[in-house]
Amino acid sequence: MRALYIGRFQPYHLGHHAVIKQIASEVDEVIICIGSAQRSHELENPFTAGERYLMISKSLREDNVLNFYIVPILDVNRNAIWVSHVESLIPPVDVVYTNNPLIERLFKERSYKVHAPLLFNRKEYLGSEIRRRMLNKESWEVLVPKAVVEVIKEIKGLSRMEFLGRSDA
Ligand code: ATP
Ligand code: MG
Repeated sequence: MRALYIGRFQPYHLGHHAVIKQIASEVDEVIICIGSAQRSHELENPFTAGERYLMISKSLREDNVLNFYIVPILDVNRNAIWVSHVESLIPPVDVVYTNNPLIERLFKERSYKVHAPLLFNRKEYLGSEIRRRMLNKESWEVLVPKAVVEVIKEIKGLSRMEFLGRSDA
């Protein structure tokens, strides 16, 4: 059985990580789609698809999760054809895991089985909260896997966030 999980992962955090590890333990293979792959260098979307790819793959490998396959997905800005667009880029899947109501709706209309995974500490394990803390130099490192801290350091992610914050002001 193959499962699909979709997110923007700006950045990949411990909430995503807990859910994907859980799914990976239940199915043969998890296909992880990186949504809005073309976006980067924006306050809401600071990291490139490649950087997000690195965050996800490094975090999972370090926890000995190996049955995953990552596919970046560009936006098409047409919800009616979005599922076909995703299908054209991924292996066939039996089930979709998402908490996003629009993604749930679009896949259900195409007769997919959709499950809503449990949310882990959603107050703090939340992309927007982590980006806010990065901008305000508050402690964000505790909300992401150790591998993500390393990737963000390697790509000088904090200095990018600081630049984006300044240029927006
Ligand atoms: P943002 O605040 O930027 O929207 P996010 O934390 O919601 O970030 P997404 O990449 O938008 O992250 O979410 C991808 C998927 O992960 C969604 O289905 C979302 O509901 C789920 N998710 C997000 N946070 C958690 C969490 N703490 N526990 C479990 N699932 C989560
Ligand atoms: Mg979200």
